Amino acid sequence: MFGVSAIHGFTLPFYHFSRSYFFKSCESYRFVLKHYNTVFKDNSMGKIFCFCGECELTVASDSALGSYLCGCQDCRQAAQWAEFKGGQKAKILQKDIYVLSDIIDVKGLQHMKAYLLRAGGLSTRVYCNLCYSILGIDFPAYNDTRFMFLEGHCITDLDISMNPVLAINMVDFPKGKTPDLPQGIKIVSSIHDPDKSWTQLPKVKRIRETFPSNRGKRFSQLLNEIGPPKILELEPGLMPK
Ligand SMILES: [Zn+2]
Ligand SMILES: [Zn+2]
Repeated sequence: MFGVSAIHGFTLPFYHFSRSYFFKSCESYRFVLKHYNTVFKDNSMGKIFCFCGECELTVASDSALGSYLCGCQDCRQAAQWAEFKGGQKAKILQKDIYVLSDIIDVKGLQHMKAYLLRAGGLSTRVYCNLCYSILGIDFPAYNDTRFMFLEGHCITDLDISMNPVLAINMVDFPKGKTPDLPQGIKIVSSIHDPDKSWTQLPKVKRIRETFPSNRGKRFSQLLNEIGPPKILELEPGLMPK
């Protein structure tokens, strides 16, 4: 409110000084009000929507933490299953985008459904059961401080413009195909590689070590509200059918 009250504070004395100036000041006041949202808006929120518009997550941040390109077969299969069910087209290489687990509002909970690719699957993925957008994904290593979504499988107004910091799990990338990787990107064959030096990259540390403000709920709480995940029994790496 600082912007508006400051302007308001100096319009009133000018009324006694000059009537025309007062009206000019009113003009300025209206101008400021009109642009108030652009200049002073709360930049601490962002939204993740599904493509049909029924589901929406509001998070307590206007920017993603960062992103990886992920060659793993499970990210790819989850995207292929979305496409198979009528959702967005699956890419071969997914861009995994990480967001703080700090959800301040949920719309369309009744249309959200959690899925595991198979029994024992570690990633729990929340889809819109109407349009098969993927709204968020949990994985134990995220420690419930962050969750992930796949570029192109939901709509967001979060800033996701940062370059991916790694190409990870490239051991799973289909043989005989060449991944389209940004020049110079660090390639990690598998998160299980003994060499963990990638975890010390500042942009990776930012993803892994930023903690939520606790203004909102964690992704685990959303999963509790959605209910137990459905198990899809998809064979690893096979196209869903
Ligand atoms: Zn939807
Ligand atoms: Zn993956």
